[in-house]
Amino acid sequence: MAKSLACQVHGYHWPRPRSLDDHHIYPLGMGGLDVRSNVVRVCPTGHRNIHAAIRALVAGGALSGTRREIMLARSGFEQWRAAGEPTVQAGFFQ
Ligand SMILES: [Zn+2]
Ligand SMILES: [Zn+2]
Repeated sequence: MAKSLACQVHGYHWPRPRSLDDHHIYPLGMGGLDVRSNVVRVCPTGHRNIHAAIRALVAGGALSGTRREIMLARSGFEQWRAAGEPTVQAGFFQ
């Protein structure tokens, strides 16, 4: 897979991310699979914000972040709910 510098949360942005993370839409720590259809490439800030939004969804708290971050978080959260809310694995909230 060719490396792209486009963050899938923010698109091309400046400063350019030094690296992109693989974010699993349905988080691995919540039962998601490490398959391409479940992965997006995001900058570390976008990644952190997605996880903050997932934490807020799980805890029933207020959501913050960009539209795209919240959409990605909701998507994983809905899959988690649909799967019967499997246990969140240790380390997921890091
Ligand atoms: Zn992630
Ligand atoms: Zn970004």
